[in-house]
Formats: sequence, C-alpha cells, structure tokens
Amino acid sequence: MLNSLFLDFRRRVPLGHQRLMLACLLSISLLLLWPSSQRQTQSGMGVLPLLLGIGLQHAPQQLEQLPLSQLTAWVGDKLRTEPVEDPFIKVYNIASGDSLSRIFSRYNLGYQTVQQVMAADESLLALDVLRPGNRLTLQLDEEGQLQSMELYIHAGKKVLYERVAADEFAYQELLDEGVWQKDILVGDVFGSFYASAQRAGLNDADIYNINQLFKDRINFARDIQAGAQFQVLRSENYVGEESTGQSRIEAIRILNRRQTLTAFMHNDGQYYDANGDSLERAFSRLPLNNNVRVSSHFNPRRLHPITKRVSPHNGTDFPLPIGTPVIAPADGVVTRIENHPFAGKYIEIQHFGGYKTRYLHLSRFNVQRGQRVTRGQRIALSGNTGRSTGPHLHYELHVNNRPVNPMTAHIPLARPVPAESKAAFATRVKQLTAQMEQQTLLAKQQSAAEEVVAD
Ligand SMILES: [Zn+2]
Repeated sequence: MLNSLFLDFRRRVPLGHQRLMLACLLSISLLLLWPSSQRQTQSGMGVLPLLLGIGLQHAPQQLEQLPLSQLTAWVGDKLRTEPVEDPFIKVYNIASGDSLSRIFSRYNLGYQTVQQVMAADESLLALDVLRPGNRLTLQLDEEGQLQSMELYIHAGKKVLYERVAADEFAYQELLDEGVWQKDILVGDVFGSFYASAQRAGLNDADIYNINQLFKDRINFARDIQAGAQFQVLRSENYVGEESTGQSRIEAIRILNRRQTLTAFMHNDGQYYDANGDSLERAFSRLPLNNNVRVSSHFNPRRLHPITKRVSPHNGTDFPLPIGTPVIAPADGVVTRIENHPFAGKYIEIQHFGGYKTRYLHLSRFNVQRGQRVTRGQRIALSGNTGRSTGPHLHYELHVNNRPVNPMTAHIPLARPVPAESKAAFATRVKQLTAQMEQQTLLAKQQSAAEEVVAD
C-alpha cells in the first residue's frame, strides 16, 4: 500500500520536486527528533542543528545533486543513531559490517581509545563480532573522551566497559539468566525436514542441533519419509517479555515409517535416546596430540601478567613451540577466524550441545570460517601472536556461553545414562512422551476442525 503510493508519487511528481519534498520531510522529522529545549536555545550547536539548517535553507540545491539511493542511505544513517537528551551520551545501533574503530571515529574517538577498549575486551572477545541487533551506548566527558561504553547483546547479556585509569578500561558483564519457557511443537514432514521443522516454529540453530543429534542414525536428506511425524519439546529463554534468542531442545521424537528416533536431555545436560544410550559424540580433554604441561591455569581472579590488574584467565595455557599442531577436540563448525591486537590470531568453534572452544595466539589457520570440522582434525598451528608472554596455546572451553575450566569441566564422554539416575530418566521419558503424544493429537483434531470449516 505504502509502496504503491510511493511509486505513484515517483511517477507523477517531477524529480526536482520529489527531492524538495523529501528534504522538507527530512527537516520536519529531524525537527521532531530534536529535543525542544535545544531547539530554542541553539546553544550546544552540534551537528544536528547544522544539518537542520541545511535541510531548511540549502537542501533543495544541495540534495538536488544527491542521487535518491544516497539520500536514503543518509536517512538510514541518521536513524541508526538514536537521539537522546543528554549530549554526552551517544547511542549507536550496530549495522552489518560495522567495526569498533569505524564507530569510534564517527564520535571523534581515536585509535588509542579503540586499543584501550580492545585490551579490556581481551579475555571476553565480545566486541570482535558486532552483529545487527547489538547496541552501543557511549558516555563521553566534556573533553569528548570516552568514559564508559555499554554493549547490549540481548536482554540477558550486556557488557559495561569503564575507564579505570587515564589509559585503561575494565569490563563488567551484566547478565540476567531470565527464565526458560517450554513449548511443544509438532508437525508432519512435507517436502524437506528443514522446511517442515521451520513451519512448526523451529529456528536454524534448533534444526542444526536436531541434525547433529541423529547424525549417526539417519540421513535427513534421504531417509525421512513424507508424512513422518515429529514432536519437539523446546525451551526458549526470556528476560521479561523479551526473548534473548537462545533456545534448547529438551526432547524430540521423530516417527518415521520404520523407525522412531528419540532424544531426551537428562539432568546432566546431555542427550540420550529413550533407552538411555548416549547421543553425544565424545570430547577430547586437550586440543593437542600429546599431553603437555600447563603454564597458567583457568582462573577467574587472576592478576594479569602484563597489566598487573585483576583480569580473569578464561582458559588454560600450554607452553608450546611455535608451529605445534592444534586439533579439534570434538566435531563442530568454525564460527570465528579473527586477528585481535591482544588475543592474536584466534579460532572459535561451536560444538554440539552448547559447547564452544577458543584457541588464541596461533601462528597459522588450517580451517576457514563456516567450515565443519571433525574430532581430531588439525585446525591450526600454535604461535605467539597478539599480547603474549611467550609461545603458547591459550585454550578456552565455554558451556552455554560461560567459560569453564577446560581441565576439569564435565565433557561429553558418550556413555549411557549413569546407573544411579536410570530410574529417574525412564520416568521422565515416559512423562514427556505422553505430553508430546497428547499435543500431536490436539494438533490433528485442530487441523481436522479447520478443514471442516473450510469446506
Ligand atoms: Zn591464557
């Protein structure tokens, strides 16, 4: 509707007039966005009143020379930076392809500030991959220097970077666990399993996880028959009303013609089939071919060896000659290949079931971003890149986005349900199966009723 109006407008009104009208519209919207107190006094003559002036007096000539595509890009840019009352606070919504240094330069913050914030982020690496939907809120002082910055990742996760010295920042994670809401999604397979699962309300990460769960038992592209039923008990994470985008599969049943596939998450966080056999693929303790000495342990309260400040050591360090092969401890997908001024060349791998690993200070990458890797595959050579006290591998293991001690953490060993919790597991399987069956029945009754109405 709006679209056709716009086309109509473009057809009927001469180009020069179109631009004039757009300029007026822009000026009016900027006028509305600009806080009234500042409109009257015009004291803090920032960039916005300047643009406003252009909008009102010179726009017809100036914007006349701008092609429409550039004009809309310019408007988009204005809208990404939210207007706020306080002139020392800047809010910036991340667009795809944004980098911290580009964003900082638009607020006249130099590369030194970028470096200082990146140094604070070394053990978190949250600023390395900025995504649309993330938001930065910058607090400047009267000299235009950055005092603090909040990175909003989702409703349950924010990171605050605060200036702690003239040349140094420190970070603080602001986490909210939220609540997990359960839902049973059911459907029949028509076309691909992927499309059918999407129709039922599962997202890409859910579908990837389901694929991984049954990878050894079925080929999804070939062996799922049309009309196969699936039942999924899924939880989604919410903080207040807002979804954080995190979800997990708690139970799934796929009723194929000759075969029923089942997976249930047990109280140890691992998946087993209805008989209690493991669906996990084993994880190696070390990402190395040989056992080696540890030079620095996982330590959330460590004093940084170079800055001498408390800064968590989120991994385990192994002293290694440069060029030692680093291997994937489990199957997964390479999600990051980055070169960080302090973490050096590093890799991140997302594994199945909420496990993630990171490898820092590498000398060479043997994989690419997006590549699938298997347990035991060589992914890189160790090195001494970034801020490092000597050649070593810094290895991190994260479970559900939290760093844990890679040397002692509970890792999947691909063993059946432990004997002591076998009875509890069987009871839960029975309960959940009954719930999912009931939901399937309800859905069938509902679609039958809808068909009657349609007739
Ligand atoms: Zn380390």
